[in-house]
Amino acid sequence: MKSICQRIVVLNILAIACTLFCSLSCYASRTIFIVLGAPGAGKGTLTEQCIKQLGFQELSTGKLCRQEIALGSEKGKLINQFSMSTGMTPDYIIVEMVETWLATHQEDRPVIFDGYPRTKHQAELLTQVLKEKFPEYTVRVFLLSVSDHEELIKRIANRLVCENKTCQAVYNREFLKNSHNGHCDACGGYLITRPDDQEHIVRERLRSFDQHNLKLSLFMKA
Ligand SMILES: [Zn+2]
Repeated sequence: MKSICQRIVVLNILAIACTLFCSLSCYASRTIFIVLGAPGAGKGTLTEQCIKQLGFQELSTGKLCRQEIALGSEKGKLINQFSMSTGMTPDYIIVEMVETWLATHQEDRPVIFDGYPRTKHQAELLTQVLKEKFPEYTVRVFLLSVSDHEELIKRIANRLVCENKTCQAVYNREFLKNSHNGHCDACGGYLITRPDDQEHIVRERLRSFDQHNLKLSLFMKA
């Protein structure tokens, strides 16, 4: 790993996408892009653009957790137990999944992390794994900055996701046509509101984000 953080760029999503497009020719293929930002700040949208338009590989720890649960693996059962009791997956389980994922996705395409790491402790564990096991990677960090929490809450309240665990396409209620039948365009699955996206849970997620974000950002800048 060359550096955990070359720079933090606070820009809007479009500007970040432009930066990525413009620097296409100069980034190394063994690069990890880490996108940090509050729930609803646009991490998912930016990730989707990078995958569809730039051919990046996506690593979403949320998706990995949900896939393990859907598979009914030992790890999935453990994750389920923790989410029932504490509402969180322990950091050591997440970093193990990230390590396995990186070891099995040795492709010459940049990787984009969606919403991970979330805390300074997760960033420390990740840094350690990258340093010891994947020193060939360069890490670049982008921080999506949105100061208006009410705007974020409104955005998330309009979010619908495909219930198909292997699809999980995201839609916005505002942009769905009236004639839309509530099914996913990609796979036909039902569109649902994620339990995490209910307003009182979103407010709690934003509180938790604020609590961790400063320390995390400072660690990534260091
Ligand atoms: Zn779908």
